[in-house]
Amino acid sequence: MYDVSYRRAGTVPGAVETFSQGDDPKYVAGGQTLIPTMKARLAAPSELVDVSRIEDLIGICEDGDRVIVGASTTHAAVHADPLLGRLIPGLAALAGNIGDPMVRHRGTMGGSVVNNDPSADYPAALLALGATVRTDRRDVAADDFFVDMFETDLEEDELITAIAFPVPKRATYAKFPNPASRYAMVGVMVAELADGSIRVAVTGAGSSGVFRWREAETALAATMDAAALDGLSVDADEMLEDLHGSGEYRAHLVGVMAKRAVNALS
Ligand SMILES: Cc1cc2nc3c(=O)[nH]c(=O)nc-3n(C[C@H](O)[C@H](O)[C@H](O)COP(=O)(O)OP(=O)(O)OC[C@H]3O[C@@H](n4cnc5c(N)ncnc54)[C@H](O)[C@@H]3O)c2cc1C
Repeated sequence: MYDVSYRRAGTVPGAVETFSQGDDPKYVAGGQTLIPTMKARLAAPSELVDVSRIEDLIGICEDGDRVIVGASTTHAAVHADPLLGRLIPGLAALAGNIGDPMVRHRGTMGGSVVNNDPSADYPAALLALGATVRTDRRDVAADDFFVDMFETDLEEDELITAIAFPVPKRATYAKFPNPASRYAMVGVMVAELADGSIRVAVTGAGSSGVFRWREAETALAATMDAAALDGLSVDADEMLEDLHGSGEYRAHLVGVMAKRAVNALS
């Protein structure tokens, strides 16, 4: 490792202030993505500002018709939370299938969302549920937040403080995990929102990262049945191609996972 300074922030204003004084700073939360990236010399920040212990960023609460998840809440806490388990069980279940126990107990929702890995699970949940990303300076709709793989609308110095999820009527997530990494080869969340609208979001497959499958949304809005997806498919040319699977394979999996998600809705 090369020299890097480390500061643990105790408050949001303190984190923002420390960050603003750095030469080439980065926030760190669970470190599950950033630290390996630094070890591989793919990132070399001069200062790390640790936001994982800021109390205002940790925890889950109800606010009217929304559930608010603090940015530094770990995947394990999301999975085990009774409020989420009651109001958005599909999201709690999704968190319980991220990576392995160490990743779930260290990794955070904020870190995952910022990273916007094309195979990460949470981006599909944010898009399907119509969530809002809250930062130290503004609110951004998930539809506007995810720009491209590993790219978001966030400014370099912007700190995510929470994610606000409108409580849906029902929502489920179906994931086909990569057997080695546990990341999604394809993951699909299907949600029926409180206003009755249907949203379908796909992760793991798109060459530009997470996306909404609008054709499936229209079909399911007409008939909420897996059979409504028969004959529909995403464009294989717009899917990721890598050693784990071809575009055709991923396009096929999108249809299979979407049907599984619909069948699991209750
Ligand atoms: C073996 C392994 C398996 C995994 N499997 C999965 C999987 O199945 N599904 C899945 O979705 N993910 C998986 N992950 C990724 C995991 O979920 C990470 O925890 C997540 O990507 C990053 O969260 P973190 O808190 O560790 O972020 P960090 O690594 O600390 O940070 C990641 C990025 O976010 C920034 N950041 C962190 N918090 C904030 C904030 N509040 N505001 C602004 N910027 C911030 C950092 O500067 C950095 O750029 C896996 C990781 C590993 C190592």
